[in-house]
Amino acid sequence: MEKVVSLCKRRGFVFQGSEIYGGLSGTWDYGPYGAELAHNIKELWWKHFVTEQENMFGISSSTLMPEAVWKASGHLSGFTDPMIECKKCHHRFRADQTEDKKKCSDCGGELGEEKAFNMMFPVSMGSSGEDVAYLRGEIAQGMFVNFKNVLDTMHLDLPFGLTQIGKAYRNEIAPRDFLFRVREFDLMEFEYFIRPEEWEKYFEMWKGEMWRWIERVGINKDLVHELEVPAEDRAHYSKRTVDFEFDYPFGRKELYGLAYRTNYDLKQHASASGVDLSYFDEDKKEKFIPHVIEPSMGHGRTMLTVLLSAYKEDEMNGEVRTYLAFKPSIAPIKCAVFPLLKNKPELVEKAREIYKMLKKEFGSVAFDDNGNIGKRYRRQDEIGTPFCVTVDFETIEKNTGVTIRDRDTGKQERISISELISYIRSKI
Ligand code: ATP
Repeated sequence: MEKVVSLCKRRGFVFQGSEIYGGLSGTWDYGPYGAELAHNIKELWWKHFVTEQENMFGISSSTLMPEAVWKASGHLSGFTDPMIECKKCHHRFRADQTEDKKKCSDCGGELGEEKAFNMMFPVSMGSSGEDVAYLRGEIAQGMFVNFKNVLDTMHLDLPFGLTQIGKAYRNEIAPRDFLFRVREFDLMEFEYFIRPEEWEKYFEMWKGEMWRWIERVGINKDLVHELEVPAEDRAHYSKRTVDFEFDYPFGRKELYGLAYRTNYDLKQHASASGVDLSYFDEDKKEKFIPHVIEPSMGHGRTMLTVLLSAYKEDEMNGEVRTYLAFKPSIAPIKCAVFPLLKNKPELVEKAREIYKMLKKEFGSVAFDDNGNIGKRYRRQDEIGTPFCVTVDFETIEKNTGVTIRDRDTGKQERISISELISYIRSKI
């Protein structure tokens, strides 16, 4: 874990939020490679769960929502974690994650009674500050409050899904373990609206699709395990929950969740808002409130498990090397182009020409002429660049193309310049 955290900082993937002011606990910022990786994961997720599927539609709803939404959804009363506080140093702990519930692990002081701590972030709105809104604790409510708008404008038949990727905020008692438990994070999630009698079929269908996603994005699936969540541990709205857990270096913990939320939320919002949120089945001539299956995937936990799965060390040319074996589809840089030597203008010129050609095609392409070629390969390995293209003397003198090096094996092959784009395209 320390090695991954340190690589993330050293190579500009992840920084502590507001670090120059000492950092804000539970927040992390992505640097250039982290932002690119984050973006690629979102794009791939969207492709996997929206554009490649039938009847899946994206929305993008506000992160600020009024108190009424959270009252109706049950979050104001039920979105809590058990908390205990030290009577001496006033440090707070998650009661369900604290082994000794009597003695403070920080100062040895006595711990107080267990209390329910609400994780919603209230925000006072307007100049008087009297109106209370909340930063959303989950993005699902955006799909529920827009259900009727989408149904009326798109004239959809069941089943269909409303999807979004966006920020959620939780006032976690004890943020920890890097990107695992934070106070602000992106969720990638959808509500799949169905007829109630079909819930088991679609639960299984999306479970299978989540496994395919795990493999596609490059999470080591041998470290992922399904957990059937017992009734007493399920969220207030769920009739069945399966968690996907991952073997993190700090223990087996939740990665994703899949829940059968019934029609709890739409029913609650219909009764609290007075707006009819039912669906009319034209064939059966009946009206009912659809049920939902909800696959919920944390983006930060995806980043973390992708990084942990991709981190590798091996020995190459007698040296230990570190590399990130990202799937090429999500690698922050798809390809790097090098002139073999910096002080040979003909090599540099040709390399820049190839760099421009590849950049136009793939966008995230790097150019590097700094230091010896071995070091340049190592730098790209460390950030997970799948291919490095080198322009050498043969390229110029014999017109035999360039070498292309594979990150994982270190093997190089010679390939003509005209084939470069299709070669890389076929692998990403
Ligand atoms: P946990 O038990 O770990 O607190 P949860 O059961 O409260 O998680 P859900 O409400 O199911 O989590 O949230 C959906 C997903 O959001 C989780 O599967 C996880 O990927 C992600 N997630 C939840 N809380 C956090 C957090 N504090 N930081 C980062 N990701 C989170």
